[in-house]
Amino acid sequence: VADGLTRADAEALDAADPLAPLRSRFVVDDGGPVYVDGNSLGRLPHATAERMAAFAEEWGSRLVTGWPDWIELPRAVGDVLAEHVLGARPGEVLVCDSVTVNLFKLAGAVLDAEAGPLVGLAGDFPTDRYVLEGLARAHGVDLRLVDRGELAAAARDARLTVVSKVDYRSGEVLPDDLPGLVLWDLSHAAGAIELDLRGSGAQLAVGCTYKYLNGGPGAPAFLYVREDLQERLRSPIQGWFSQKDQFAMGPRYEPAAGIDRFLAGTPSIVDLVAVRSGAELVAEAGMPAIAAKTRALTGLFVALHDAWLAPLGFALASPRDAAARGGHVSLAHPDGWRVCRALIERANVVPDFRRPDVVRFGFPALYTRFTDVFEAAERTRDLVASGAHLDVQAAPMRVT
Ligand SMILES: *Cc1c(COP(=O)(O)O)cnc(C)c1O
Repeated sequence: VADGLTRADAEALDAADPLAPLRSRFVVDDGGPVYVDGNSLGRLPHATAERMAAFAEEWGSRLVTGWPDWIELPRAVGDVLAEHVLGARPGEVLVCDSVTVNLFKLAGAVLDAEAGPLVGLAGDFPTDRYVLEGLARAHGVDLRLVDRGELAAAARDARLTVVSKVDYRSGEVLPDDLPGLVLWDLSHAAGAIELDLRGSGAQLAVGCTYKYLNGGPGAPAFLYVREDLQERLRSPIQGWFSQKDQFAMGPRYEPAAGIDRFLAGTPSIVDLVAVRSGAELVAEAGMPAIAAKTRALTGLFVALHDAWLAPLGFALASPRDAAARGGHVSLAHPDGWRVCRALIERANVVPDFRRPDVVRFGFPALYTRFTDVFEAAERTRDLVASGAHLDVQAAPMRVT
């Protein structure tokens, strides 16, 4: 397909792209790098910068009298995500805490209700595996970390299976039909692929807002608990924000009704302002359009890989089928770490790297152009063909 594919073809795709105007709603330095790491940290929307400045004024003037409004935000922003991103009902989603803490709360709540073996994927995102390891120890239950091929069978016998909907390394989309009780980690799915938690019968989920939802570095995560499960589960973190009559400040803990029982402590309001702003941009574009463009962007990159990069020692480490792929494409290369560093330092392209050998290229649809995809592939080809990646300092770094 890509044989003979030219920059003019990519420009034509941009010209026909209904989401193209949304790029101007983000802070983008046009002389800056080709940014293909929005799957780790999304770009800053202009509206977010403005609203955070406005919020600073509000904090300054309202002080503590702002809290009656602010206290509603974890749920209000959760409702925006429920409607426009997750396919859930109002009152089923909260924005609070980190993915890690939300995983602990929901998986811990399940084990408190009824202990039993836990299942996860051996190659899943580290925080998910580590939280499960700690919970299994604390509850004295078995943890089975299995390979992808064993997952369905293991899930059938488990009390709870925790698994990413989109694999952070390969970008593979896992099918909805896992047996048993499943807690989905939607960190790489939310804002990249269409989700229908209600339609798919999902019961529990958590996910990130700073990747495809553009909430900003360290923005709070979301959690989802299907309505009928909420009264049956209690958070193991019995914080005052999850208490029934919070300001009664009574002697004993009693969980609030509904989704609020999965809050913990005081939420970060400035962060919630940012998450709402990012989520509203996704809502404006609509997930069907975003998901369709995501498939087209990643498809173009796969085609360019086949034509230009495979002959240079790269191997596709993501699904070939667009429907089975999230918003990023991973390429394995024996010199992956040097290639990644050299792309950043010498080619002005910013991907990221996952050990041992995978370079990840992320293509968030709200602000990535088809010409960016073309440019990323072309610069990768030229860099590696020239051998310039072999000259970079490839010392270990704390963040890769
Ligand atoms: C990014 C990501 C996280 C992040 O967890 P935090 O607690 O917010 O740092 C968790 N799980 C997956 C699958 C991720 O991709």
